[in-house]
Amino acid sequence: MNTPSNAAVLPELDVADWSQVQPRLQQFIDATPDSADALRRWVSELSRLSEVIYEFGSRKNIDNACHTDDEAIEAAYLHWVREIAPKLQPMFFEIQKNYLANPHRDALTDQGFDMMLREWSADVDIFRPENVALQTQITELVTQYDKLQGAMMIEFRGETYTPQQIARFYDDVDRDTREQAWRAAAERRYADHEAVEDLFDPMLKLRQQVAENAGFNDYREYIWTSRYRFDYTPEDCLEFGKAVERVCMPLAQQVDVDRKAALGVDALRPWDTSVDVHGRPPLRPFDPKNIDDFVAKTRVIFDRIDPRLAAGFDALSEHGNLDLDSRKGKRPGGFQASLEATRQPFIFMNAAGLQRDVETLIHEGGHAFHYQAASTIDNLFTRHAPLEFCEVASMSMELLAMDHFDVFYDSPENTARAKRSKLEGVLHTLTWVATIDGFQHWLYTHPGHTRDEREAAWLDLLSRFGSDVVDWAGLENFRRTMWHRQVHLFHVPFYYIEYAIAQLGALGVWLNYRRDPKAALAQLLDAFALGGAAPLPTLFETAGVNFDFSEKTIAPLVENLQQEIEALPV
Ligand SMILES: [Zn+2]
Repeated sequence: MNTPSNAAVLPELDVADWSQVQPRLQQFIDATPDSADALRRWVSELSRLSEVIYEFGSRKNIDNACHTDDEAIEAAYLHWVREIAPKLQPMFFEIQKNYLANPHRDALTDQGFDMMLREWSADVDIFRPENVALQTQITELVTQYDKLQGAMMIEFRGETYTPQQIARFYDDVDRDTREQAWRAAAERRYADHEAVEDLFDPMLKLRQQVAENAGFNDYREYIWTSRYRFDYTPEDCLEFGKAVERVCMPLAQQVDVDRKAALGVDALRPWDTSVDVHGRPPLRPFDPKNIDDFVAKTRVIFDRIDPRLAAGFDALSEHGNLDLDSRKGKRPGGFQASLEATRQPFIFMNAAGLQRDVETLIHEGGHAFHYQAASTIDNLFTRHAPLEFCEVASMSMELLAMDHFDVFYDSPENTARAKRSKLEGVLHTLTWVATIDGFQHWLYTHPGHTRDEREAAWLDLLSRFGSDVVDWAGLENFRRTMWHRQVHLFHVPFYYIEYAIAQLGALGVWLNYRRDPKAALAQLLDAFALGGAAPLPTLFETAGVNFDFSEKTIAPLVENLQQEIEALPV
């Protein structure tokens, strides 16, 4: 799946120098291609220029993520973020308008040009100059929310922790430790609840105004266009919620009932939901100081799934495009980035030796294989699939890898533990997405609502998608403000259902694979190779799964999930 490098494209362009970039972009605003072929060439040249610019930005970001303590690297990264990137967007918008105004655009319908046309049309249709200032105000509110989150320090047993750091105590085998840590974090979070609501109210108001300015009735309508949701409707999402309620909730409750019994507690409390029920220490699949071993074992898993995946993984190593170890001076988290000009993927993460790290590398590996397969598409603007399908690539890889965790564990007991936690995680994804997505539908179709009404809507969703088995007595304040920590609600409104759509697709791929591994993998790779040149239903169909998230699709998937979970020890 490796593709030849074409790094020599436009070697003379220094993207850090705006005086070199600006005239090159301006050419695409001024040109008036006078035939369909000329327009095709115009897109092709724009694509090559954009590849070089995006690869430059990606590399600055990666360099900074890998070396946050290097001042020269940081300066180069900030120069990109502050001086170059903001100037690109307005020019690119003019370029899109020029394309849409060209009379030959309708003659280009092959190779994903139709997809590009509908996306660019959406961008231009909803743009309103008066919304630019409103978006800036929203961004400022989001920044204040981030500041609140970033300043959140939790005192616990004489030490100070961030919310991420204190989370390690939620798995502690000592129940008192878990409870005290959980309460310390919840109380600290609750101290900000008024401040968060004070930021959220004006955010909602501004978003409603943005929608009205663009000619929509409400922000949900605006989002459906701005996020290119051409192939499913708000009703489909609400239908998904109903299906989860009917199909997933009984299984989710059963998982909690089993957990409660295994723990032998009178009441299953929120701090009892992630600890190992048999008091075993956390899984340690690899030594974080031995990253080569981590890479080698992950490669074995990919090779067992399909040798072509192992070859794709090797290409990442060969190009020096894996940065996996956790070390001082590295940004936290993990991501996969695309280097568009050299057409190579890059994986960044902070491996600490946990089972979660194994899943992260396999997940990001899925994104990388997807990119490798699509990288032969010359038109950058049709190379990337919609997010709903990108996550099918990564999530299906996680599921296909589940039966090979023995590569990391000596005992069948630990292999089964890792698999069970993965399967329970899938179930949790579906129920939590239904909660958050349902909340957003309510929020943005009830403009001008009061805080009390909002709280009632949230509690109503928790009564549908929360576990009856978990006992929240005395913790009601924390429960009714629980959504405050879901950053998507503040940062990227409505971006959440994508995870569930992709999770269902991944479950479908996994079932196909168990029936016929060769055929299922071939279908998946075919779908990868389509990149973004086909609509979602075609991508799913090519991958061998239905693009549908109603009960008809969900019921058989969850039935199989249930059989797998029940076959494993609690
Ligand atoms: Zn992902």
